Amino acid sequence: MAAVDWQISVDDPSPERLGHYESLLSTANGRLGVRGATPWDHGARRPGTYLAGVFDALPGEVTELVNLPDWTWVRLFVDGREMRPRPAEDGGSRLQLDLRRGLFLATAHLRDDAGREAVLAVQRFVSLAQRDVACMQISVTPVNCRGRFLLETGCHLPAGERHLALKQVSEDDDGSGFLLLETIHGKRTIGIASKLTGGPEGELAMRWGADGWRERASWQGRDGQVMIFHRCLAFAHAPGGEDAADEVRRRARSAIRDSLRRGFDSCLASHVAAWEDVWARADVVIEGDPEAQLAVRMAVFHLAGAGPDDPAYSIAAKGLSGPGYRGHVFWDTEVFMLPFFTYVLPEIGRRLLAYRWLTLPGARAKAREQGFPGAMFAWESADTGEETCPSTYLNPETGETGRIWTGARELHITADVAWAVDRYVQVTGDRRLLEEFGAEIILACAQFWFARLERGEDDGLHLSGVIGPDEYHESVADNAYTNAMVRYVLTKAGELAGRLRRECPRSWEEIGRRLNLGGTESETWPDAARRIYLPAPGPDLVLEQFRGFFALGQPGPIKQPDVLMLRVTLPELLPPAMLKANWDYYEPRTDHGSSLSPSIHALIASELGLRDEAAAYFRRACRIDLQDSMGNGADGLHLANLGGIWQAVVHGFAGIQWRDGALQCDPRLPPGWRAIHCTICCRGSRFRVDVTRDHLEIAPITALAAPLPVRVGGRSFLLREPSGLKLPLDAVPPNPTK
Ligand code: BGC
Repeated sequence: MAAVDWQISVDDPSPERLGHYESLLSTANGRLGVRGATPWDHGARRPGTYLAGVFDALPGEVTELVNLPDWTWVRLFVDGREMRPRPAEDGGSRLQLDLRRGLFLATAHLRDDAGREAVLAVQRFVSLAQRDVACMQISVTPVNCRGRFLLETGCHLPAGERHLALKQVSEDDDGSGFLLLETIHGKRTIGIASKLTGGPEGELAMRWGADGWRERASWQGRDGQVMIFHRCLAFAHAPGGEDAADEVRRRARSAIRDSLRRGFDSCLASHVAAWEDVWARADVVIEGDPEAQLAVRMAVFHLAGAGPDDPAYSIAAKGLSGPGYRGHVFWDTEVFMLPFFTYVLPEIGRRLLAYRWLTLPGARAKAREQGFPGAMFAWESADTGEETCPSTYLNPETGETGRIWTGARELHITADVAWAVDRYVQVTGDRRLLEEFGAEIILACAQFWFARLERGEDDGLHLSGVIGPDEYHESVADNAYTNAMVRYVLTKAGELAGRLRRECPRSWEEIGRRLNLGGTESETWPDAARRIYLPAPGPDLVLEQFRGFFALGQPGPIKQPDVLMLRVTLPELLPPAMLKANWDYYEPRTDHGSSLSPSIHALIASELGLRDEAAAYFRRACRIDLQDSMGNGADGLHLANLGGIWQAVVHGFAGIQWRDGALQCDPRLPPGWRAIHCTICCRGSRFRVDVTRDHLEIAPITALAAPLPVRVGGRSFLLREPSGLKLPLDAVPPNPTK
């Protein structure tokens, strides 16, 4: 794999690596995601087209994101003989992802069995400007041959499809094809419209079949003569119901007509312009380390591409890049990805939180089923917010069924979501979010926790039977991370309830009615928060991961940061000396069984001033998706890792983060890095941040609502317009972990 600045290129990929490349080279626009499958068939394709929110459940199974019929394939024939990719040893195929323009490109030398060759080149994008639309340009160039060429592409249901039924295939009066589908069990209606244009005059045809359609073009081709085709597709979906078919047909057709009227080049131009706008806000430039540069751009590209334009959807653990984790949403979104959106594309961050509000009915149903009031967020969430974590798994080696406990016991997500609302509001200053929906999320979570806490003989409050972030320990008591997060949420919820009661009695009453939260319960939350058991650090300053952890014969291995995760969410609980002590204890015991682990270790090592360890962990995080170092890349990207990479660079190495009412900046460049340049949003304004080895500069790009408090190396400043702040870094005393 080669990388040139904004491009990821793969020459002559080996078949066993293709699944990973399909994920890595996937493209998405928050609504529609398409894997980077080759257009030509090489016998190992795992194409994927996903629409955010289109789920279906097989009987007895949990709901999963539905893979739509493949439309990305292209076949080429000359005089009736199929042309296939040349054998790998002859080379000639290349896959590319152009991050700047959001374009997937694939080129191959195809050959028929008589040795005649043609070059097939495909460009594909899912439009960031027209989110229901995907476009494709196909060009065919015969090499040293002539003959009757036939190009075929199409869209049809594969044999054995388990989630989709074809309801109708039809042709519109403008010659575009329309496929009407329905999810078999959920009865969601989906429409796909498509039209092939360009190529030879009068030689395009649509063929219908029982499973879909094929679009064909034939022409007399000769050496070196390039034939170019364009293909435009539009996707729409709606919940089932009487008018659903008309509705999706109308929307898909209107989107496709609009695109056809504008033409491929104009659609491409507006898509590229939309990406330019994203990059103007989100690019992170790293000088001195090309691999890190590519990794952070790749991370930004896939995070921004996964960001929904509708609060009905969130971002799954794999985004829209593959089937892994069935398209379900975890704490990955709030704790690992949300910081990127909060600081860079806050309008998307807001939607991610609004998704949790819209899915509160599911979270409340889960709490009710367990006998609790309030909301219990699903460990794995899909379209409704109900728990979609499978409860069993089949071990393929032994054929035995095992129990999955995370859905029932990994409760910390209900604190993570409330924490994320609070953090978002602190960083952005967007207090309206609380009034609109954030307060209800926090209060519903607090209500659940207050009831779930167990009163112990020591008069303290405890939580038993839980799983912390380290999933290797499946039923533990008083997990430090969970308890600390719950304490934080109850404290915040108590303050919030008090403020609402005093300042917005109408909202307070309304939320109270909706949550059935009456009387004075919320007044007791702060006291309950204080009584929650938190392990006291021993003389060595190490916090016990859960009650009894130290008494285990050989504590560890642990899967991912657990106690150390508190440095990310509640840094004040792990001040410098404690952070170091806990790093020394837990880091060697962690086997990084989760992709969520290395980036957080990079971030923490950087805060501790452990520059070599930070760089090594960062490289490890980068390789998870760039090089498939965990071996499961074919299932999709690891979006939490991508969010972690962004956090490691911006919060860790550039050292920029909103903390304790000020923008804290404590840069710590890894060895070899000369500079980091990025932009961030904070308290309603946007800033350019430049960190070099010898200076730090923060300059407002947009108007400041008020002078911004900034803390650099423990010194406080007020940042004002228009000059911003420029400081020589050697004048700033090192302050590793403030
Ligand atoms: C990790 C979880 C994570 C999930 C989805 C698991 O392996 O342990 O923390 O939420 O994967 O990415």
